[in-house]
Amino acid sequence: MADKYPKVVVVGAGAAGMMAAGQAAEAGAEVVVLEKMRRAGLKLAITGKGRCNLTNSAALADFIGHFGSNGRFLRQAFNVWFSDDLVDFFSAHGLELTRERGGRIFPAAGKAQQVVELLRRWLLAAGAEIHYRSAVERIVVEENRVVAVVSNGQHIRTDAVIVACGGSSYSATGSDGAGCALAAAVGHRIVPLRPALVPLVTTGAAAAQLCGLNLRNIAAALFVDGKKAAAEFGELVFNEDGVTGPVVLTMSGVAVDALAEGKQVELRLDLKPALDDKKLDARLQRDFRRRHAEELESILRGLMVREMVPVCLQQADLPGDCCGHSITVAQRKRLRHWLKNFVLPVSGHRPMDEAIVTAGGVDLKQVNPRSMESRLVSGLYFAGEVLDLQADTGGYNLQAAFSTGYLAGRSAAAIQEPVTDS
Ligand SMILES: Cc1cc2nc3c(=O)[nH]c(=O)nc-3n(C[C@H](O)[C@H](O)[C@H](O)COP(=O)(O)OP(=O)(O)OC[C@H]3O[C@@H](n4cnc5c(N)ncnc54)[C@H](O)[C@@H]3O)c2cc1C
Repeated sequence: MADKYPKVVVVGAGAAGMMAAGQAAEAGAEVVVLEKMRRAGLKLAITGKGRCNLTNSAALADFIGHFGSNGRFLRQAFNVWFSDDLVDFFSAHGLELTRERGGRIFPAAGKAQQVVELLRRWLLAAGAEIHYRSAVERIVVEENRVVAVVSNGQHIRTDAVIVACGGSSYSATGSDGAGCALAAAVGHRIVPLRPALVPLVTTGAAAAQLCGLNLRNIAAALFVDGKKAAAEFGELVFNEDGVTGPVVLTMSGVAVDALAEGKQVELRLDLKPALDDKKLDARLQRDFRRRHAEELESILRGLMVREMVPVCLQQADLPGDCCGHSITVAQRKRLRHWLKNFVLPVSGHRPMDEAIVTAGGVDLKQVNPRSMESRLVSGLYFAGEVLDLQADTGGYNLQAAFSTGYLAGRSAAAIQEPVTDS
């Protein structure tokens, strides 16, 4: 006898998968979520440093711009379900939200785990089931239509499959690139996976000397083969072998691609972005006049954080024990230049597993943006980071996961010709 409603298997209980499952179940489908880990939403629970930056209040065009040229693909999904819908959804389910600088929206209590629990309970209440420790090993396709998945060696017949396996980073959370392998095995092209939003490795001793230091309000520019390729303003953090923090993560995708092409990459930091050369020179002259009897090393502490002083003296070739009154014009010029152009040569990046987001994924040309259905296999849908979509930090990636999840769930629940029970 034919099922009244289609059966939908969702692969992965992350942000996209849980949204897809709940929506499909609310639309009347029989939904089973197969999750390979022991719990749902392990990555979601660590987002936003455990606070979960759910979305951003940016307007649609600006929002889409954060995804680069592939952002156009999201227009249809965002037209159906966007940030205001997300805010309404979570608010209606009792989660209080708060908006912070840059339009970033978080749960007011600052707990990402609340988001995971809310989604999990909501999809179960809608009638979906979640099976844990159930990695999907294969999608079975007959005559270009999904008919089953294989998990733990068992064939599970289904009308639709939503692949929401995430990217390929932070593999301890479950996302290890398996979704792309499943898609590739049924004929999809995978745009090569690369780390995005990843810390950069620098050469020279500066990073190790400044390890742990957090610089706020700096202007950073990324130069590729001597040409400015990206620029950001904000916060940068030094770690043992390089740099991270929002300005670095945002520009890291450009650096990763340039390094892969064998290009020369460097970061130039402007530590005094509020002062142009002329104003900075006047400030230095004034400091040296007022503090003429003090050693340069001590004067510099008024210009930068203490940890940076030895790095500055070394890189700008300045004598720390020289008094303010005896600083030469050439030395002052070198100091000024260094403050505006602190160069960190970039030799590499941290591994994929440390990337906040995976660049690359299922080729968007093979997915219908109106439904998230594969253009190659009927009944097969994709949602979330498994797609070739990635944005910078600010809540954009989770909104994309939720919006594509919403659309995939609703579309899968609406498909016709359910299979017959055997
Ligand atoms: C440290 C960190 C912080 C972040 N902070 C933010 C933030 O604040 N805001 C933001 O917008 N984005 C943030 N992101 C990015 C965001 O977490 C991801 O873009 C988002 O989680 C992607 O959702 P997804 O559902 O596509 O994938 P995931 O959340 O990765 O979920 C995929 C799920 O699929 C399961 N799975 C994988 N393979 C299989 C299989 N074969 N069978 C069954 N199940 C499988 C996995 O176990 C996992 O549960 C952050 C990422 C990291 C790593």
